[in-house]
Amino acid sequence: MDLIRTADEVRRVTAALRDLGGHSGRDPGRDSGSERTEVGLVPTMGSLHEGHASLIRRARAESDFVLVTLFVNPAQFGPGEDLAAYPRDEDRDLEICRRLGVDAVWAPTVEEVYPPGVPLAEPDPGPIGETFEGAARPGHFRGVLKVVHRLFDVTGPCRAYFGEKDAQQLFLVRRMVRDEALSVTIVPCPIVRESDGLAWSSRNARLGTEEREQAGCLFLALSEGAALARAGERDAAIIVAAMAREIGATPIARLDYAAVVRDDTFELVSHLDRPSRAIVAARFPSARLIDNLRLPEPAPEPAKER
Ligand code: AMP
Repeated sequence: MDLIRTADEVRRVTAALRDLGGHSGRDPGRDSGSERTEVGLVPTMGSLHEGHASLIRRARAESDFVLVTLFVNPAQFGPGEDLAAYPRDEDRDLEICRRLGVDAVWAPTVEEVYPPGVPLAEPDPGPIGETFEGAARPGHFRGVLKVVHRLFDVTGPCRAYFGEKDAQQLFLVRRMVRDEALSVTIVPCPIVRESDGLAWSSRNARLGTEEREQAGCLFLALSEGAALARAGERDAAIIVAAMAREIGATPIARLDYAAVVRDDTFELVSHLDRPSRAIVAARFPSARLIDNLRLPEPAPEPAKER
């Protein structure tokens, strides 16, 4: 596994793969006859866990060459946020990547990603970028799109793996790729959860015992929302109220938001007549957590007896 520090080296490696065409030799049977070498890109902020591992495994299964990036992106943290406290452990991350069969890790400095004096694209997240996570964290999605655009630019054409854990981010990245017609295929990956339903997150490590016990309330709330939708509830306000009640009843959690949005536009839903997603965020003393769940379509009405 190669450990790369500079953008130039990433460009050199991926360009060489493209010139090579065909496959990397890893799995000769898989893509014999194919013209291209597929690069699978997995962007992360490091401190890898089972959620990241699922993205990497998927990339490994579907790509000739797997590139993982480890970069805590300062541009997506606000002034009062946890940039300095964000967990970092490069040696452990490299070991995990090695075990998962990653071909190369790009772990750049801030100056490599944002070279001083070099103008970079700054895609506009638009109004959806100001809602939910964007409202709680002003400027967050501007920073996210800036770094993702830069990673795509350096990597070149690729398949890029993103988790549904960050559903609003996934929505905005997909829209950027579509609007700018970038040569990137976005591959959405399902949320990986711990045994009590808590979605894996690098920030979970900061939770104390009591906080960790109560952190399951996010998934509990989402599951209640899903159960209501499954039972035929179509009024989003009722689903939102149930989710807010569940998180509100958890002593050390402070609800940030609970909402139902359209799965394809991330706009607020009042009546569930299309594919929808429940989203929640809550603050614990040591970390702010987010989660979401695609809501089941209501069961069809039973056929009337004649
Ligand atoms: P992060 O390091 O938090 O920026 O996450 C890097 C990528 O991993 C993003 O695409 C996340 O959505 C994804 N990810 C984080 N946690 C999970 C999880 N529990 N399940 C699936 N994907 C995840």
